[in-house]
Amino acid sequence: MYRDVSQLHFQDELNKLIKELECNDINLPAIYIEKEVIKRIPEFANKHQFRHIVIVTDDNTKKVVGDELTLFLEKEGLITQLVILTPTEHNQVIANEETLVELMLATSPETTLLIAAGSGTIHDIVRFVGHKMDIPFISVPTAASVDGFTSKGAPLILRGKKQTIQTASPIAVFADINILVRAPRELTAAGFGDILGKYTSLVDWEISRLIANEPYQARAAAMTRYALDTCINNIEKIAQRDEEGIKIIIQALIESGLVMLVLDYSRPASGGEHHLSHFLEMDMLQKNQKQHLHGAKVGVTTAIIAELYKKFVTESSLEDIKNGTVKKHWRTIKELILSIPEAEQLRSYLRKVGGPDSIQALKIEDKVVRASLNQAHNLRDRCTGLLLINQIKKTELPYPFNSSPLPM
Ligand SMILES: [Zn+2]
Repeated sequence: MYRDVSQLHFQDELNKLIKELECNDINLPAIYIEKEVIKRIPEFANKHQFRHIVIVTDDNTKKVVGDELTLFLEKEGLITQLVILTPTEHNQVIANEETLVELMLATSPETTLLIAAGSGTIHDIVRFVGHKMDIPFISVPTAASVDGFTSKGAPLILRGKKQTIQTASPIAVFADINILVRAPRELTAAGFGDILGKYTSLVDWEISRLIANEPYQARAAAMTRYALDTCINNIEKIAQRDEEGIKIIIQALIESGLVMLVLDYSRPASGGEHHLSHFLEMDMLQKNQKQHLHGAKVGVTTAIIAELYKKFVTESSLEDIKNGTVKKHWRTIKELILSIPEAEQLRSYLRKVGGPDSIQALKIEDKVVRASLNQAHNLRDRCTGLLLINQIKKTELPYPFNSSPLPM
């Protein structure tokens, strides 16, 4: 499906990754990243004999793409139904029981294809319902806001708690540059925040390999790093949100998503920064507060994790480390952590793309961040620098990090 040289290079690497992982039977989505590419959806649907199509939107994405897509499909003789999911009191669509059932009820039994037309949450709702009803779906992102479009995992809010359920990935992604360039600035900035998180998630993955013997895949790590570096090298273009910049970021998000899909786990793109972000999200859910964009939180927590890790390795010396395995790999761990950009540099990247750069900008209290630093490592059974620091700490980690040393 890929056309231009940079995409061909990625395709080539992905094929090598599939070979190394011996998962040749994997079904990967067809990827279309172009201007006006939604016009090709009717042809795709006809070719695969999808006759009854449900287009899933919210109020906003109905106007952005839902109505137009309905026209294109009906012109080609396809039967469509447009579903506009109901938002909460905060005017947000949430992937909870109510919305999942809403979509199940709205999806008629003749439906052969679902289209997720929106940002990350709409995708999660559609991937869950499609999987349960045995209906394939295609992805039409309306913003370059998250790296999970191609994911199998659906983060859902069930009984008020966030859980990721394994469902299905899309059979195709139609990323229309004309639509994506019109997305609000904060959504593209959130996509950039999700990308920025790879600075710390990739380091956490290496730490987990060293001290916890967790599976590691060098090519997957390099491909994820490539996506990150491409975005950093082109940050001016991404900040301008012109066609070129948007194409770069959506490609990076989709490609890092495909790497996770082939690996069948999210390690390269989810470490301590995502654990903090999930903790903050759960806290806001409990308080029934309006949710922040996933990537907006991840961008901010990446800077917090970078600051914590760097403080940890600069204040600790080899003599302080009691754990034999950590002692053995201490120099490497220190080098890895020192290779992460400074927290202030990460914050300046976030400011450049127009995203929130601090917990103050997200209106989150210090004490909630403090709780997340001390508890978020329990959210997942996954080794990270955050887990390591929590295992070594003598008393509670502080926040904000002041000039006094960490309690190690
Ligand atoms: Zn993420």
